[in-house]
Amino acid sequence: MDNWFLYVIIFSAIGIGWWLGRRERTKTSEIGDPNYYQGLNYLLNEEPDRAVSTFIDNLEVNDDTLETHLALGGLLRRRGELEKAVFVHENILSQAQLSRSDMHGVQLELARDYLLAGLLDRAEELCVKLGQEPDTGEAGSVRRESLKITLQIYEQEKEWLQAIEVAKLLVTGEEAEHYEKAISHYHCELAEAQLEHNDLEGARESVREAIGHDVNNPRTSLVRGRLDVSEGHFDDAIAALTRIRDQDPVFVPESLETLEEVYRLDERPQAELRQYLESCLELTPSISIVLTLAKSIRDEMGDEAVAKFIAAHLKKNPTIRGLTQLIDLHIDNTRGIAKENLAILRSFAEALVADKPAYRCQSCGFDGKRMRWHCPVCRDWASIKPIFGLEGE
Ligand SMILES: [Zn+2]
Repeated sequence: MDNWFLYVIIFSAIGIGWWLGRRERTKTSEIGDPNYYQGLNYLLNEEPDRAVSTFIDNLEVNDDTLETHLALGGLLRRRGELEKAVFVHENILSQAQLSRSDMHGVQLELARDYLLAGLLDRAEELCVKLGQEPDTGEAGSVRRESLKITLQIYEQEKEWLQAIEVAKLLVTGEEAEHYEKAISHYHCELAEAQLEHNDLEGARESVREAIGHDVNNPRTSLVRGRLDVSEGHFDDAIAALTRIRDQDPVFVPESLETLEEVYRLDERPQAELRQYLESCLELTPSISIVLTLAKSIRDEMGDEAVAKFIAAHLKKNPTIRGLTQLIDLHIDNTRGIAKENLAILRSFAEALVADKPAYRCQSCGFDGKRMRWHCPVCRDWASIKPIFGLEGE
C-alpha cells in the first residue's frame, strides 16, 4: 500500500508535468489522450511499473518536462529502485536536445545511480569525463560534484592512492578541512596495509603524510605507535600513543592493547602506565580504560585492591561491563548459593549488553558493534565513537 501511494504521487507529478508541457504547444487537454487513461488504468489496477513505463514512453522530454523526469528518477533512486532510476536518466539523455549544462546535470544523476547500483566502472567513466570540465562557473560545480562521486568510487574500491589525488582537487574553500581530514585517513589506510606487509619504510612515509594533512588525527598516533613497537622504539611508541589523550581522548581505548604491549616488552614500571591512564579517565569515563587499569592494579596489588578500585569507579560511572568485571573478581572467592547467584547475575548482565551497539556515528547516527574509522552510511571519517552510558563504555 505504501508503494502504491508513492506511485500515485509519481503519477500525479508526471501527469501535471505532462499537462504543463503540452498545454503550451497543443492548447488541448491530454485528458483526451488514450495514454493518460491507459497509465491511470495500470495505476488503479495496482500495476505501478507499467503505469510509470507508460508515462516515460509517452511524456516527451523537453524544457517543460525535464524537471518532472528528473524528479521521478531521483525519487526512484531514493526508493532503491536503481534499475528504474537508470532507465529514467538514460531515457532523458537519449531523447532530449538538452543544453550542455542540463546534460551534465543528468549525467551526474546517472553516475549517482550507477554508484549506488555498484556499477562502479560506468560511474567512473562518466565522472572522469565530467571531471575534465573547467574549474569555474556552472561547469565548475559540475566538475566538483563529479570529483566527489569519483572519490566515493575510489573509497569503495579502497584505491587510496587515487582517492588522495582526487581529494587534493577538492581541498578548497569551506570544505578544505573536511578533505584534508579524509586525505589524512587515506594515508593511514595505506600505512596500516604497509605495516601489515612489513613495509616499515613505506608505512613511516605514509604516517608522515597523514600527519601533514591533519596533525590532530588520533589515528596517525595509533599507527605510528604500532610502527615504533614493531621497530623496537619503545620510547617513541609511548610518546606517539599517549598523544591520543590530547588529540581526542575518546580514542584512547583503541591504543590500550599496544600500550600494554610496550610496557610488557620494555618491562617498564606499571605505576607510570597507571598514572597516564588515570589522567585519561579524568577526560573520558571509559570502562575500557578502567579495565586496563584494573588489570595493572590486580597484577601488583591483588584482588581486594582492584575490587575496591572498580567499585569506586562504578559508583561514579555505572556500566554493565564494569559490573560483570566486578562479579568476576568476587565469584572465585565465593561459595555455595552466593556463587550460584553471582553467576546468574553475571549472565543477566551479559545478556543486557549482548545485542547493544557499542559505537555510534556522530554525524549520521549509524550504530555498530565494532570500531570503524569510516562510517559506511555518511562516509565521514573518525565520526564513529564509543557510546557512553550504562550499556556502553
Ligand atoms: Zn555516519
